[in-house]
Amino acid sequence: MLNLVLFGPPGSGKGTQSALLIDKYNLVHLSTGDILRGEIAAGTALGLEAKSLMDKGDLVPDSVVIGMIKSKLENNPDAKGFIFDGFPRTTAQAEALDTLLAELNTAISGMLSLQVDDEELSKRLLLRGKDSGRADDQDENIIRNRIKEYNNKTLPLKEFYGAQNKLQEIEGVGSIEEINQKLCTAIDNL
Ligand code: ADP
Repeated sequence: MLNLVLFGPPGSGKGTQSALLIDKYNLVHLSTGDILRGEIAAGTALGLEAKSLMDKGDLVPDSVVIGMIKSKLENNPDAKGFIFDGFPRTTAQAEALDTLLAELNTAISGMLSLQVDDEELSKRLLLRGKDSGRADDQDENIIRNRIKEYNNKTLPLKEFYGAQNKLQEIEGVGSIEEINQKLCTAIDNL
């Protein structure tokens, strides 16, 4: 299986690039942010719990997102591989993912980390907020909190995957096509 962690701060282009990669490599896209927004739209208890945290730019509890990923893995037994987008975001999530994949006799093939500086991120998120309607994209304080959560809790995962020799750094500024090419080259060299 080809199992990729697409990594990077909020606004780094993970969703855009995932959409291109799932077609090319025939992978299942698992975005915890998209799944959570689906739960909110469906008005489930889980969605209700997640919404207040997401609207502040805080992370949702590990147990919630790990449970969501576990059920998605179980529901896709024939997948050729997965792209994890926005997950894992904490060390506990990364450890749980390794365990879940080991139970399926597979593992993460590589982590592709998109590099984008904070100023460019804020600009992109505020622009996206104009059409996405996402509350967490429309307020500079919330954006700052998301970037802070990323730096504190998520960035250490580079060391986690680096220690497993799975980290690939990719320049995340340029055209969508250029960045896609760089990602494909990195994937083909895994
Ligand atoms: P972005 O990467 O642009 O911030 P996402 O859609 O990945 O957008 O995430 C939006 C929000 O959903 C996060 O700020 C967080 O509240 C919640 N979320 C998504 N994935 C996770 C996760 N793996 N762990 C905890 N919270 C998450």
